[in-house]
Amino acid sequence: MSNKKHFQISQQAVEKLAVRFGTPLLVLSLEEIKKNYKVLKKYMPRVKIHYAIKANPHPEILRVMADMGSCFDVASDGEIRTMHDMGVDGGRLIYANPVKTGVGLEACRSCGVRKMTFDSASEIDKIKKQCPDATVLLRLRIDNSSAHVDLNKKFGAARENALALMQQAKEAGLDMAGIAFHVGSQTVSADPYLHALDIARELFEEAEAAGLKLRILDVGGGFPIPEPKVKFNLPEMLRQINARLDEDFADAEIWAEPGRYICGTAVNLITSVIGVTERGGQPWYFLNEGLYGTFSGVLFDQWDFKLISFREGEEKVAATFAGPSCDSLDIMFRGRLTVPLQVGDLLLVPSCGAYTSASATTFNGFSKAKFVIWERVKAEVEPVAAVGRVEMNQSVAQAVK
Ligand SMILES: *Cc1c(COP(=O)(O)O)cnc(C)c1O
Repeated sequence: MSNKKHFQISQQAVEKLAVRFGTPLLVLSLEEIKKNYKVLKKYMPRVKIHYAIKANPHPEILRVMADMGSCFDVASDGEIRTMHDMGVDGGRLIYANPVKTGVGLEACRSCGVRKMTFDSASEIDKIKKQCPDATVLLRLRIDNSSAHVDLNKKFGAARENALALMQQAKEAGLDMAGIAFHVGSQTVSADPYLHALDIARELFEEAEAAGLKLRILDVGGGFPIPEPKVKFNLPEMLRQINARLDEDFADAEIWAEPGRYICGTAVNLITSVIGVTERGGQPWYFLNEGLYGTFSGVLFDQWDFKLISFREGEEKVAATFAGPSCDSLDIMFRGRLTVPLQVGDLLLVPSCGAYTSASATTFNGFSKAKFVIWERVKAEVEPVAAVGRVEMNQSVAQAVK
């Protein structure tokens, strides 16, 4: 493994895995999942993490997270039953979709899920009918035009309606317990969180003055992973958020719902160039993975994936990269600088674990990329000598310290 901060396999591993398993191939590191969970715990120790499984519901990720004691954010009957079938207690799930389906609420009843969010009066009626003993959090709208994917365009109660909605939930007999928000996915600064915490603090106080004591604050997801051309300081960001939580919410139970941060960096894609042509004076490269597969994140998540080729020396050209299907929508990148490629070349795409395979399809008869678990194959593809050398370097580094 190269000496990167995040999981990225070596050229040698790419080549060997491609021969052994074929491409497109998704390489998942469970150690990286564990590391990401521990980083969030380290900087925000009071936070009870609920992994938002929509970002990547791969069963091995769910298993590792469950074994580490994580809770889960689920959004549908299917996600509730997936966790239930894995043996995860309903008490560890929050049904965090503010607009719930009848079958979703039914799944809550049969799987023992009581925690849920709401952002409208109609939702209170639905919850009261189907899950009258629910513990509910009001999902608040937080305007954040700088968010990469702004969920507040679709969800969240307006600040001015918040108190009345909470009172209504209480009057309906629900356990009105707290406030939730989501500042938007891939948020690279603490500011939107701090802004949301200001509003939540005010609402905690207003609620208390109105005879309603809130006890849970759910800061949602949005925590960022490295992204081409974007700079941010994650430890500093988490420190700021945590300091404010300690200052203003010392007595509250704190929850979070990270999705991308847990799984985003844990997957590498290996894809092959299957066609080369020139159109309009630009080279075009057709890959065996496209917009209907792992690169669905280009469309649904507006993500700008990094492509690594192992060719060297030649001058870079601006090229177009397209997927394998017969649809003209299936174009991922235009004007992307790359060394000239050839049919059969392998490309490595690091950090493609979030909102990628989760939204992939089998459109046009192309299978979804298969997964291998890095920790189970690495001994075969990384020579023992190299592993020994890394270990030696580490012990030397430790000795120097
Ligand atoms: C999608 C989603 C998340 C996860 O968001 P990330 O930006 O991936 O961390 C958390 N909570 C809710 C309610 C969501 O819809």
